[in-house]
Amino acid sequence: MQAIIRSSVVVFVSVVLLRLFVMDSFIVRGDSMAPTVLNYDYVFINKLAYRFGNEPKRGDLVVVGVSGGKDSGALLYILSKMAGEIGFEVKPVLVDEGIHGYRNKALKEAEKLCEKRGLELEIFSYKKLFGKTMDEVMKARDEGKVKGKACSFCGVFRKKALNQAALELKATKVAIGHNADDVAQTFLMNLLRAEGERNERFRIVDKPKKGFVPRVRPLVFNTEKETALFCLTNDIPFHLGECPYSSEAFRAEVKGFLNETEEKYPGVKFNLLHSFLQNQEWLDEKTGKSGEEKEMRYCEECSSPSSGRKCKACELKEKLGS
Ligand SMILES: [Zn+2]
Repeated sequence: MQAIIRSSVVVFVSVVLLRLFVMDSFIVRGDSMAPTVLNYDYVFINKLAYRFGNEPKRGDLVVVGVSGGKDSGALLYILSKMAGEIGFEVKPVLVDEGIHGYRNKALKEAEKLCEKRGLELEIFSYKKLFGKTMDEVMKARDEGKVKGKACSFCGVFRKKALNQAALELKATKVAIGHNADDVAQTFLMNLLRAEGERNERFRIVDKPKKGFVPRVRPLVFNTEKETALFCLTNDIPFHLGECPYSSEAFRAEVKGFLNETEEKYPGVKFNLLHSFLQNQEWLDEKTGKSGEEKEMRYCEECSSPSSGRKCKACELKEKLGS
């Protein structure tokens, strides 16, 4: 009984916080905003975008990276509601890694949501872009042809695929559904690996870089639980399965640790998020907020921004022989 009362209080407080800080819904009475918003439509006010000064503007074409999961589902739902009102266009893009039994199931949920919102889903696959599905990459890895963990391949290919999609679709922004849990995990992982410089590159709003469509992450003040709740209360279809390769990841360990610590010391995830933001403020004071990164090089294979002669995706592609 105590557990039920406790859960109810947690859900109630989450909803109140969500409505106060993240988004709020209103039922429209009357036809004054037709045809954009009709009588009895729900209107969502996204309270987050304004905190970053990166809200979509009229004329923007925003590629929304959708996975079929809850975070990107909530993001697509909110942005597509805002699009007509503000006058920007939303283009959902799904990166299909080719993970059988996982992505194909999630794809169906993404398609359902797009149909519901009247949007056409664009699919960009690893197979087409890099010559191999993620399952084939893992097979090559298990046969000893290449070394590395699943996420070290997938992270590089995913970023490249989404940017490729944004360039082809002539997008002005790429919106990603990263939540507070994701940011806290990434920040901590980089510290634990002594790769602090990654925290400098990892941005809530990317710095401008030639050849790279800036990514924005409007849901970073939402916890994972809040987006799940938002999807459930708004009837947003999503796939709940875990990536079969995610158990290999360091991230899964860090996620488990943070969830346990949050139980014992509520607020640690947000403390990490705030430490991350503070860190970026200090860096911005030093390096200037919107300046283009200096000494950027470009991949000699594909012309993408790169830190070396070739970009990471082309390096991996070469190693895989695809
Ligand atoms: Zn390249």
